[in-house]
Amino acid sequence: MGRVEGKIAFITGAASGIGAACAKILAREGATVVMADLQDEMGQGVLAEIRDEGGDGHYLHLDVTSEQGWANAMVEVMSKFGELHILINCAGTTHSKSSFPSEAEFDEWRSIVSVNLDGTFLATKHALGAMKKSDPVNGSIINISSVYGMVGLPGIGAYNASKGGVRIYSKSVALSCAQEGVNVRVNTIHPGIIDTPLLQRALSRNPDPEAARMRYDSLQPVGHLGQPEDIAYGALYLASDEAKFVTGAELVIDGGYIAR
Ligand code: NAD
Repeated sequence: MGRVEGKIAFITGAASGIGAACAKILAREGATVVMADLQDEMGQGVLAEIRDEGGDGHYLHLDVTSEQGWANAMVEVMSKFGELHILINCAGTTHSKSSFPSEAEFDEWRSIVSVNLDGTFLATKHALGAMKKSDPVNGSIINISSVYGMVGLPGIGAYNASKGGVRIYSKSVALSCAQEGVNVRVNTIHPGIIDTPLLQRALSRNPDPEAARMRYDSLQPVGHLGQPEDIAYGALYLASDEAKFVTGAELVIDGGYIAR
């Protein structure tokens, strides 16, 4: 038996990086994965890899900032699978450059908060509705925050604020579910610096990307960056019934980055 055998999982940002790793690992462990993203060709590519390995899944186009999009997605999931057990919110974005707060652009603030925080709110609202219709109700919501949802970094105020918002919003939802007797657990994961396209884009804006990469490596207590799978295995645990007493918690996976 896989660790999430028979469960239906919805994963946003599943075309790339951490989301793609979550989709592959949950599928390997027996879940049917519904993958959502804006990058349809890449998403279909990840789905093809999952099917090649014998896994089961479905891909749909979804902009996580669209409430109508979420409503449609949940109709699609429930009509196709009839149940929803796991939601992993991986879709996320960050700053194109670091800026001093008095020079920060309000448009950039809005677009980062919209994807990272509004997207998590909409996901939770609509997926919880679907999870409550499952019989029996046995849900797990996993929100990918960041170590920068716990500690500040100069020049990335919108990212810090959005990820800090995801962290505390998740605790509120966890407590609401517990109080109402809704068997849905809600937890956050706080990745450190992980080698994904998001990071590679940030490095490529650097005059010397290789030197910047080595600098990032040297900043890690363990001496190297994390891999998307390091986060996906944490998500697998929280998604599985092994974590049935874990809610409102925050799982830091960062190679010791914020332990100092
Ligand atoms: P990534 O860029 O590889 O993947 C992010 C995915 O989200 C992309 O496929 C993108 O198309 C999708 N996406 C963006 N906006 C969307 C929208 N409006 N609707 C639907 N999909 C959308 O990045 P990643 O590093 O895998 O990041 C995944 C999550 O992990 C993000 O929330 C990120 O903030 C968080 N995180 C990453 C790191 C890191 O170092 N890579 C560290 C901490 C937290």
